[in-house]
Amino acid sequence: RQEQYRALRDVPAITRDGVRIGLHLNAGLLVDLGHLVETGAEGVGLFRTELQFMVAQRMPSAAEQQALYRAVLTASGDKPVTIRTLDIGGDKILPYMPKLEEENPALGWRAIRIGLDRPALLRVQLRALLKASDGHPLKIMFPMVATVDEFVRARAIVDREKAHLRRHGYTLPVDCQLGAMVEVPSLLFQIDEIAREADFLSVGSNDLMQFLFAVDRENRRVADRFDPLSVAAMRAFRLIAERGAAANCPVTVCGEIGGRPLDAMALVGLGFRNFSMSPAAIGPVKAMVLSIEAAAVAELIDTEMARMHDGDSLRPALAAFAKAR
Ligand code: PEP
Ligand code: MG
Repeated sequence: RQEQYRALRDVPAITRDGVRIGLHLNAGLLVDLGHLVETGAEGVGLFRTELQFMVAQRMPSAAEQQALYRAVLTASGDKPVTIRTLDIGGDKILPYMPKLEEENPALGWRAIRIGLDRPALLRVQLRALLKASDGHPLKIMFPMVATVDEFVRARAIVDREKAHLRRHGYTLPVDCQLGAMVEVPSLLFQIDEIAREADFLSVGSNDLMQFLFAVDRENRRVADRFDPLSVAAMRAFRLIAERGAAANCPVTVCGEIGGRPLDAMALVGLGFRNFSMSPAAIGPVKAMVLSIEAAAVAELIDTEMARMHDGDSLRPALAAFAKAR
């Protein structure tokens, strides 16, 4: 199996009916970048910056942050990297920060909420990112965006930092794109607006499923209770794919779902063309892509979704379809 996947490394991920699928890597530490070459991934679709903060004994300095981002961008060469701003809080605790007593940490003070309430932290990180890019393209995305206004405010902070650096003679990124994670269900109901405002969107299916079904993603007793291939979830995914395309806003899926071949196949059928996943998932997902016709999957999904009621899962039908390939 492993050998088989390795042989696919330089084979482009194109379906049998000619649909090109972008396979990218999820990463969080510099060592992860080695997987870019090893897997043949097209780039890093999600770089989780909180990892550097979580493994440190104290808050990483601006210089340390900049050094890591520079090293990440250098190690990726010409391959694009999407760097996510700090996603701390919830289950991601920094040992040197006072622990907040919150009844519901997943719903608490975390990610972009901290960034907007304590902009000094976000500003330091953004400045480090902008300096690190030094004339190269840069893609930054914000986690846990719940309203369009939060995205607009985060963008304003980036603009301020850019202006500051320009005044001080720094070279800005040639192309600086700003994206929003779609992982809080409220964005589903502002999807046209956020797709208009953001340069790109990335579906965080781990949190999106957690909040959509109100199931704690870490709680084994309930985590597997709802299927991301159920009609309710698939309608949510479809909405994002369709409205993103309508607004000409590129959409990637960076949650774990994109790394599971059958689930990723369903998402291809819904119209998603870019996925970001753990290194070990690239081979199996590419093998899936090479074996399917996107149009046939799309047709199957249309039929099944029209036929089923909420609560039912498309998994059995999709599994049967995949098996018959
Ligand atoms: C997600 O929520 O799907 C995601 C990619 O982010 P994280 O797993 O880091 O919360
Ligand atoms: Mg998330």
